[in-house]
Amino acid sequence: MSANEPRLDFKDPGLEPVWDKVRSGRRLDAADGLALISTRDVPTLGRMADWVAGRRHGRDAFFVTNRQCNPTNVCVLDCKFCEFARRKGQDGAWEMDREEVLAHGEGVREVHIVGGLHPDWRFDRYLGIVRDFRDRYPDLGIKAWTAVEIEWFARLERRGVREILSDLRAAGLDALPGGGAEVFSERVRRELFFPKIGWDKWSEVHRTAHELGIKTNATLLYGHIETYEERVDHMLKLRALEDEAPGFMAFIPLAFTPGNTGIPVNRQGAVEDVRTIATARLILDNFPHIKAYWVLLSPDLAGLALNFGASDLDGTIGREKIMHMAGNASPEGLAKEAMRRLIRESGKNPVERDIFYRPVAEPVAA
Ligand code: SF4
Repeated sequence: MSANEPRLDFKDPGLEPVWDKVRSGRRLDAADGLALISTRDVPTLGRMADWVAGRRHGRDAFFVTNRQCNPTNVCVLDCKFCEFARRKGQDGAWEMDREEVLAHGEGVREVHIVGGLHPDWRFDRYLGIVRDFRDRYPDLGIKAWTAVEIEWFARLERRGVREILSDLRAAGLDALPGGGAEVFSERVRRELFFPKIGWDKWSEVHRTAHELGIKTNATLLYGHIETYEERVDHMLKLRALEDEAPGFMAFIPLAFTPGNTGIPVNRQGAVEDVRTIATARLILDNFPHIKAYWVLLSPDLAGLALNFGASDLDGTIGREKIMHMAGNASPEGLAKEAMRRLIRESGKNPVERDIFYRPVAEPVAA
């Protein structure tokens, strides 16, 4: 046993062989993942994941000064779980003008841009948003358009994904967000978001982005009709993709919020959340970070998750529409000091970062 290795008191014998693999640096398989995600010995699972996170990042936990920008919620698709999208002209539909969009870059270090697949917007408009941000804020980290949107642009333009991403890269794009992944199970896709792309297309977009030097994230939408096996399989697919074409920065489990969708929630609250985060930290041995997204989890639970393998809280998030429309009650934005306090209270060392997880010292120019 190495000096800083925790002495674990296993209440679940199923965790012991998994721990042996983890501490000796062997890869976990689907059966190991299942043992982790279904264990009732959550404290021990948390200590395992915390130890692994600590080997990568010491006691550091990261956050960024950022803002979400959703230029439109008008979308041609109709995913069952989506509370965000509206039809053109429908009550609650919005389309921001150029200045409204660009205001989201003021005073922050990173902007996260996603929206609907608007029936009238051409690729040029989406490309122009990236170019405008880059022109007005040369140092801003620009994370924009999910794989669903990239694939939509390619279809609109009758061009390849590689060409679309190359244009966006040239316009100033730094990274792709992880959304649109949902759950890579075909069964779940057919039932909940049939019109959306599945694993084949999603992985093609992210593989191509990595090959072009564009970093990306990956999400998992959990706590609805998916099984534990499907959650673990989702993580294993991502691990294999990172082996093949490295470029992921963070994995972000997103707890499902039902809103008015009528889809049943299948999740045992906080226990389920930290168990999913810890399992991800242990399976995804080639992902730098697991993110505890405080907007969905609540600040308190996200702070707790920093002791279950998470190493990033996302950011201060000035404007956030998608999750709030689904009825989430988290505050609109956490100030920087509040982020630092939250991290310290969780026993970790707060590190303000940029889009690529480089620590930053200087305040953002207003
Ligand atoms: S999840 Fe995305 S693609 Fe599906 S309806 Fe909502 S905005 Fe459109």
